[in-house]
Amino acid sequence: MKNLIKETEVKSIITKSKLPASDYCVNPYIGCLHACKYCYASFMKRFTVHDENWGDFVDVKVWKEIKNIDQYTGKSIFLGSVTDPYQPLEEKYERTKAFLEEIKNIDIELVISTKSDLILRDLPLLKMFRNLKVAWSINTLDENFKNDMDRAVSIERRIEAMKKFHEQGICTVCFISPIFPKITDVVSIIERCKDYCDFVWLENLNLRGVYKFRILNYIKKKFPQIYDTYDDIYRKKNMFFWQNLDSEISEYCKKNNFSYLKNNSSSKSHNGSPVVINYFYHEEIRKK
Ligand code: SF4
Repeated sequence: MKNLIKETEVKSIITKSKLPASDYCVNPYIGCLHACKYCYASFMKRFTVHDENWGDFVDVKVWKEIKNIDQYTGKSIFLGSVTDPYQPLEEKYERTKAFLEEIKNIDIELVISTKSDLILRDLPLLKMFRNLKVAWSINTLDENFKNDMDRAVSIERRIEAMKKFHEQGICTVCFISPIFPKITDVVSIIERCKDYCDFVWLENLNLRGVYKFRILNYIKKKFPQIYDTYDDIYRKKNMFFWQNLDSEISEYCKKNNFSYLKNNSSSKSHNGSPVVINYFYHEEIRKK
């Protein structure tokens, strides 16, 4: 199917963030051609006039020069909270690059989240940012499962990009998200990436809205042997799976002398080993 791409003027490219760990968010595109089946950002479609499915359209943002740019000094900005700033269109439109050019002289804390290796194009520019983290989402090492879930580049290309950034001294994150129960092998992913990342972030799969049914149907068809686990977690709201996984990872980190933190925004890595940070639903687990 042909994707619908159009340019749209916006008043401001920087918006106040609702994320706890950042002051502002920047999303140079509305929509995302990576079309992940579990995309938490698909609710954004409600704020557009598109009839196309999420993943089949993108509005390319065009903005006027950022006003009073010094007001962002010392602030934190998350680039790519509801889109991938390095989705394939970026090659042509360069809106993410344009934003980086505008803010490159401001002392900000910048976090970029992507599933792409197109970011390698901007490596020289990104080296100008003193307080930068680049996170690659990797929730499997199985390219078949990855292909079932998204249209982004292969896992191997993501890891290769992470490695190149790490070699250049840029702080890198292996973002294991979303963790699919009994499919995502967290320890194998950490083992594969541990030499190329400063942090490992862990996030559970959340299922809500239309994609809840899509994912549950997929599991029922493709992985019927583990469907009961999904039913337990996502219909009966049982938290045991996450508690057990938390204990397993904690044990693994202890054995390997990795720091293991929970819901912590620590920005320092230790002893050259990655710091593993768990962002599971800890409030709920504590309550239970
Ligand atoms: S890369 Fe992120 S924003 Fe894009 S479709 Fe996937 S989950 Fe959604």
